[in-house]
Amino acid sequence: MNKNRYLALSLLLLRAIAGCALIVASAHAAPCLIVTLTGTQGGPSVFGGLAGAGTLVRYGDDSNGCNAVRLQFDAGRGTSMRLSQVPMTAIDLHAIFFTHLHSDHVDGLGDLLQIRWHFGVKAPKVDVVCSADASAGAYAMSCQKLVAHVGDAYIQSGEIAQRSVEDKTRLAGGPAAAANVQTFEPKDEPQVVWSRGEVKVSAIRSTHIAGHASYRVDTPAGSVVIGGDAGNDTPSPPRATSASAQVERLAKFPTGADIIVHSAIHPVMGPDQGSGFPAPIFHRQSTATDLGVMAQRAGAKYLMLTHLIPPLGARQQGPYKVPGGALTEADYKKATEAGGFTGNTVVGTDMVSVRLPAK
Ligand SMILES: [Zn+2]
Repeated sequence: MNKNRYLALSLLLLRAIAGCALIVASAHAAPCLIVTLTGTQGGPSVFGGLAGAGTLVRYGDDSNGCNAVRLQFDAGRGTSMRLSQVPMTAIDLHAIFFTHLHSDHVDGLGDLLQIRWHFGVKAPKVDVVCSADASAGAYAMSCQKLVAHVGDAYIQSGEIAQRSVEDKTRLAGGPAAAANVQTFEPKDEPQVVWSRGEVKVSAIRSTHIAGHASYRVDTPAGSVVIGGDAGNDTPSPPRATSASAQVERLAKFPTGADIIVHSAIHPVMGPDQGSGFPAPIFHRQSTATDLGVMAQRAGAKYLMLTHLIPPLGARQQGPYKVPGGALTEADYKKATEAGGFTGNTVVGTDMVSVRLPAK
């Protein structure tokens, strides 16, 4: 065989091998899950540019960059700015879920729906999944009303009418018309509240304010529980833990969840530590230590602490001083380890992600 013919044959052989490798890769595109904290600020305070509470869950496989299904859990202040860093926009979301209707978890909804209404004329409505109307004594929470009125200020100001004149294909009704609200009655056992292909989302009732729910996403690549601001049904000590028994159930059912994302308060803000932080508000959050206990019992690989009270580096939580000065990542890790957690503690900062399987 002359040298040129040998080279040509070798090239053909290499191309054939490369082609086979590509076919094998696409036939076995591995499923993957990415969980990203879109906002880690705890409560309505502002600190260091942190966005309000939110978690983005993406599922797919290697061929689409784990990006076939895109779910947003809570949507605090600045959510669409954080999504732009992914990069994606409100139009890319398949569903938005709310754990509860405190402003620090819903402030970003108007922005998301306004963007969808403005630019997403041909996009289907986004599912907004939340608890049915719920009352507790003197007040009632309503996700239906929140969404129905989310664009009212822009309707009243005239903007919605003005932009509708500019583009007659925009939906009558403004931003609210871009949402498809789906409510469920939270129960003490998990129930499936949303699904798309291989992705299943379950919810469970949990305690914080009326209508609070926690979620679990199951996919072939793994599972994640989003606890929200859940705390124990017993509002203050004496009790075995500040964490929610229902969230623990969700994290164990039907198998141990790989990742738990949960709002966390550091024990240093406790009523006996001198911060002056109101005891009832401290007691209705789960402490990082008790979350460590729960994550260990559930066998979670990752515990992602978010909605940190106090945020890393903050000397104050709102008007309340952090005893002993600002906390570090190590302080939160020490707290979960004190609860016996031996997995990975991820101390929340905006845009931190966990991917399953890890790369
Ligand atoms: Zn909150």
